[in-house]
Amino acid sequence: MNLNIGVIKGDGIGPEIVTEAMKVLDKTGEIYGFRCTYEQLLMGGASIDVHGVPLTDETIARAKASDAVLMGSIGGDAKTSPWYQLEPSKRPEAGLLKIRKALNLFANLRPAVLYEELAAACPLKEEITEGGFDLMIMRELTGGLYFGERKTVEEEGVRTAYDSLTYNENEIRRIAVRAFDIAMKRRKKVTSVDKANVLDSSRLWRKVVEEVAADYPEVTLEHMLVDNCAMQLVRDPKQFDVILTENMFGDILSDEASMVTGSIGMLASASLNETKFGLYEPSGGSAPDIAGKGIANPIATILSAAMMLRFSFDLDKAADAIEAAVSQVLKDGYRTGDIMSEGCTKVGTAQMGDLICERIH
Ligand code: NAD
Repeated sequence: MNLNIGVIKGDGIGPEIVTEAMKVLDKTGEIYGFRCTYEQLLMGGASIDVHGVPLTDETIARAKASDAVLMGSIGGDAKTSPWYQLEPSKRPEAGLLKIRKALNLFANLRPAVLYEELAAACPLKEEITEGGFDLMIMRELTGGLYFGERKTVEEEGVRTAYDSLTYNENEIRRIAVRAFDIAMKRRKKVTSVDKANVLDSSRLWRKVVEEVAADYPEVTLEHMLVDNCAMQLVRDPKQFDVILTENMFGDILSDEASMVTGSIGMLASASLNETKFGLYEPSGGSAPDIAGKGIANPIATILSAAMMLRFSFDLDKAADAIEAAVSQVLKDGYRTGDIMSEGCTKVGTAQMGDLICERIH
């Protein structure tokens, strides 16, 4: 099996962390019988330096032609980088928004996993996190309040602002289907989060999610109000498997969930469209403060590559093997600087990649 992967190494620590993820993919492929072909794509500051813009139409076309895209991170230090002298639409981050739109990536997936070995980095009490937790937030990414009509007007001398929150049933159905499909690959539970006691859009959300649930009899569906979910995430995160929610609620809850796991260097993410195509990237940024030093944590990118194998290629066993290798390397006491704790062995980016490769079986 040949996997055509578009690779956006990007800026800052991007090239360093993506190189390690490619190393891990190649090693996993040798064992699990697939071969990755990489096509390097320029985006962000790296594209500005060559083409004057953060993303070209040709790069979009090449990304679309690939089976999936693996990305590092883009952007630089806003205070010192010349990229930020450009107008906002020409800056590195504009490339990210443009590619998400061009590829119709409407479903954002952010796993929040607490490894027992990193429990010290978790701000929650030990009795809550004992044994770790593993949940997935599925956030709608292209609709709702952030994309609705907005205006600010003066009404009878009073400044008044409007933002509209709209979802149609098709937008809800396609993300709900994605969430149930993913729950089928996990512990078969979906918690749909809304504000159905107040909002019409949430009441429609609930109805459509229930219609979709009828096609997945093996999956348990529960509904939860967003305010309660925000509490439950810190009170008992173990109760969750897949959390399905709309754009703004997901924006807030996914940051809350990632905060309770500890380091940003551990957080993978995926953005999917209606097909098997997806863009996979660590949740963190380009970390210009540590770029080029060989000390960035590559684990989030390696786990994003595992998500790519699972969700774009249905190579679940290979994805499991990568996740198990990450777990093992932590158990064996190896840490990059950001997750270092007493008694552990500190390693750099490339060494962490090698240690994970050695543990893939
Ligand atoms: P950041 O995530 O890059 O860095 C925040 C802190 O976390 C820094 O101290 C950094 O050293 C650390 N960190 C991040 N990733 C790490 C890793 N893998 N290993 C070890 N430490 C890590 O956030 P920022 O400083 O706010 O943003 C820097 C640049 O990244 C900006 O240009 C921003 O726009 C961009 N950014 C890009 C993306 C993306 O590409 N999707 C996402 C967020 C931010």
